[in-house]
Amino acid sequence: MEIAVASAKIEVVQGDLTKEAVDAIVNAANETLLGGGGVDGAIHRAGGPSILEECRTLGGCQTGDAKITTAGRMPAKHVIHTVGPVYRDGAHGEPELLASCYRRSLEVAVEHGVRSISFPAISCGVYGYPIPEAARIAVGTVAQFVKERGGVERVRFVLFGSNTYGPFEAALKSIQ
Ligand code: ADP
Repeated sequence: MEIAVASAKIEVVQGDLTKEAVDAIVNAANETLLGGGGVDGAIHRAGGPSILEECRTLGGCQTGDAKITTAGRMPAKHVIHTVGPVYRDGAHGEPELLASCYRRSLEVAVEHGVRSISFPAISCGVYGYPIPEAARIAVGTVAQFVKERGGVERVRFVLFGSNTYGPFEAALKSIQ
């Protein structure tokens, strides 16, 4: 489904992020930026070794921050690597850090002229964030950014499975 927010469209779709033909896809990476499992592993496999070579020059990335590379062999032009919080109990800054991932990714995107960007469900895999709450933070932060800052035309949440698709769709419907 999709909704219009200010001059942008926000979409929720089920699919594989590595196949997205957009200006940038966002990677749910770890602080080393040197590769991991889940969506990070899928991005490095699909994009090839040039992404890791670029990542090695970046000096890692703090939780809540974002850094950009090219996308190697994938159809997207860039990968924006962000590091989500590991969920403990929600009282260790997790909501603020997760919101920061989405905001910093969009800031880096706008700085690089990115008009279309696709996100995964950051922290919703091995980092264990409760998915409905993560979905509300993701959708709310993106909607606030496009209203207040603009600069992007299309933001897609590309969810791998129905466990994330349903909650993200519900979160998007709730801000309509
Ligand atoms: P984190 O460490 O931030 O929790 P994970 O990579 O473990 O990151 O999971 C984040 C989300 O990405 C999960 O919902 C997982 O199902 C999803 N995912 C895994 N592979 C892909 C892919 N190719 N495209 C889109 N989402 C994916």
